[in-house]
Amino acid sequence: MASYYNDETVIFLNGSFVKAADAKMDFYSQSLHYGYSVFEGIRSYKTEKGETKIFKPVEHYERLKNSAKAMNMPYPWNTEDLITATYEVLKRNNIQDAYIRPVVYAPANMSFAVNTQSFIVIETWEMAPFLGDKLLRVMTSSFQRPNPKGFKIEAKAGGHYVNSILASQEAKAKGFDEALLTDMNGNIAEGPGANVFFEKEGKLFTPSAGNILPGITRATVIQICKKLGIEVEEKLFKAEELINADAAFFCGTAAEVIGWESLDNMKFKKDWNDTVSKSVQEAYKNLIIEKEFDLQIPPGI
Ligand code: PMP
Repeated sequence: MASYYNDETVIFLNGSFVKAADAKMDFYSQSLHYGYSVFEGIRSYKTEKGETKIFKPVEHYERLKNSAKAMNMPYPWNTEDLITATYEVLKRNNIQDAYIRPVVYAPANMSFAVNTQSFIVIETWEMAPFLGDKLLRVMTSSFQRPNPKGFKIEAKAGGHYVNSILASQEAKAKGFDEALLTDMNGNIAEGPGANVFFEKEGKLFTPSAGNILPGITRATVIQICKKLGIEVEEKLFKAEELINADAAFFCGTAAEVIGWESLDNMKFKKDWNDTVSKSVQEAYKNLIIEKEFDLQIPPGI
């Protein structure tokens, strides 16, 4: 198991900076028993100029607020203060290239009633930029994404990730790198923790919003494509269309933009290096470290 903290690691816990090793939470929390929590996955990078920059912090903390609202969880924090607290956590832990994990969790409550209080923790650990440059071997999962009529799937809620864990574990047990899940109608939806794009004749396609978590990286990819003059279409499609594609990739805060080698052992038509997807990947790499200023994307997309 990975080690996320040591005796020196500091976290932000309900307004204070405390040692992770000394922090406590209630074992009677509704979040632990029922997966009733909301969270974010954010990254910070050491930029070209050597500064520490959180990528799209406003978008992430606004989504955290919206996730809490969707789950009827009280949310007494504001985005600006949480961003300041996050920079402070990074500073206190002396990390620049980081993964940042804010979690909003519930108090002790064994009933299903709404709470009058929520808690927040912001954890961070070191994560190298572009962990996986290796192309992925993906399999279509036997699991489907949760039905939007059963869950508020646009929210990043803890309990939804039981589905992600099952799908990812199944893929790895079968010797693949990652899973690809369909929605309840058999349309391609997303990966366990990333959105999906495919490329055909220089154009990109991605599942439309509705049955997916509409990712911040997905929105960034769409913006990059506009800038690079690459056409993007959002639509519903089945696995057969994907198998006949020239290339495909996952995108997400942790995954960044990562190409696929194959889907269900069927290789894609084009060499990754000859795809427009690869130029999107390169543009994303530059954007996160602020290497190309003309690719700056306005907030709120
Ligand atoms: N889909 C799911 C299910 C996810 O967990 C994530 C990661 N948050 C994404 C898509 C990608 O979202 P983002 O680009 O905002 O990280």
